[in-house]
Amino acid sequence: MMGKLLIFSAPSGSGKTTIVRRLMERFPRLEFSVSVTSRPPRGAEVNGRDYHFVTPEEFGRLVEAGEFVEWEEVYEGTRYGTLRREVEGIWARENVCVFDVDVVGGVRLKQIFGDAALSFFVECPSMEELRGRLEARGTDSPESIERRLAKAEEEAKRAAEFDHVVVNDDLDRAVDEVATMVAPFIARRIMLYFGSFNPVHRGHVAVAEYAVEKELADLVVMVVSPQSPFKEAEELAPELERYEMAVQAAKESKYPDKIAASAVELTLPRPSYTIDTLRFLEAQFPGAELSLLVGGDNAPGMVKWKEAEAILGGFPVYVYPRPGDDEGAFPEGVTVLEGAPEMEISSTRVRELLAEGRERFREGDFAGAANSFGEAVGMAPVNREAAGYLHLISEIQNFKNTDLMNP
Ligand code: ADP
Ligand code: 5GP
Repeated sequence: MMGKLLIFSAPSGSGKTTIVRRLMERFPRLEFSVSVTSRPPRGAEVNGRDYHFVTPEEFGRLVEAGEFVEWEEVYEGTRYGTLRREVEGIWARENVCVFDVDVVGGVRLKQIFGDAALSFFVECPSMEELRGRLEARGTDSPESIERRLAKAEEEAKRAAEFDHVVVNDDLDRAVDEVATMVAPFIARRIMLYFGSFNPVHRGHVAVAEYAVEKELADLVVMVVSPQSPFKEAEELAPELERYEMAVQAAKESKYPDKIAASAVELTLPRPSYTIDTLRFLEAQFPGAELSLLVGGDNAPGMVKWKEAEAILGGFPVYVYPRPGDDEGAFPEGVTVLEGAPEMEISSTRVRELLAEGRERFREGDFAGAANSFGEAVGMAPVNREAAGYLHLISEIQNFKNTDLMNP
């Protein structure tokens, strides 16, 4: 059985090994493919964990016997390669194979495995920075560092042959960026949580967390819907703001690697129909099982959706309860999540509270308001309304401080 693979290549010192280690802590199904090398162990390297260390003669015998998927003389006189049985063992354990290989090897592995592989080119922000990192790592001689830097120039030219180029400027940010792409790629079961998320609130997040905890999927994706043709345009906040807020909410949820937001419907033709999105995502993630998560208020209407039979017959549908549901009106065959948290909160109520303003902040409580709007801007820098209020508050405070306190 063929499984999936992640390929990481980079000029030496870019931080690929560091990124791979971090990812492996976050995604338990990732298993490192241990290469064979003809060089001796270095520093604290352990045979069987970092590499399978063999003599140059033994390496030659493995090549002759056709045991390698791919091998390369990465540095003059030193060969590295990946054994067929290494990959097969990882897949037999139903894990995802992670490669840390040189740039030529990365391109070749992607050619061999095609869509089963997702390849990343890790880039250092600059050559000076790369030199600094190699020197700071303290594992290479000055000559070795020069050799690696010369090679880096050549390798950088092949970045475009990878699926993604990740600039490793800030490590946490780079790891987050990679994780966002890895999560849907390795998920076997993806639950699509459709909604306008106008705005997303802790009720949405609680339901997504519940689905993760009940292991209904490996990944729950809040799919932000575009403006519905049946609603007045002014009812919805701008699409990208709703999406940005959903991204932030997912990141700050209990399971940032298992809850995500997607703007896919904002990029598809309009009006958007769920069946079209499902088909698009099926093609995008071949082999993944897609399911739907729908609120009890929307479930009765599903029978009128475009190609309702194809949706209800082709995908598991989970319905979470909402206050005032009419369960009798739910379509046949859906699974009702009786235990899902039913929160006394709705996007409508959040919008009302925002509009009322005074409900949240006592009159004259400028510090409290500044904190809340500051937080909102931090969560969604695109939110112009919150930014506007924040500015207004600071104007008021400046006025108070300069003119009223010192008359
Ligand atoms: P590679 O596997 O690509 O050769 P490493 O993971 O060994 O690179 O990283 C090279 C050095 O740079 C290490 O000492 C590592 O701790 C450091 N490093 C990795 N990522 C960053 C980063 N974003 N900023 C600064 N230093 C980093
Ligand atoms: P070192 O471990 O000596 O610092 O670096 C070895 C280089 O060889 C790294 O760029 C690493 O990614 C690459 N490498 C390790 N294993 C393999 C492999 O199996 N195939 C190829 N092509 N490159 C490998």
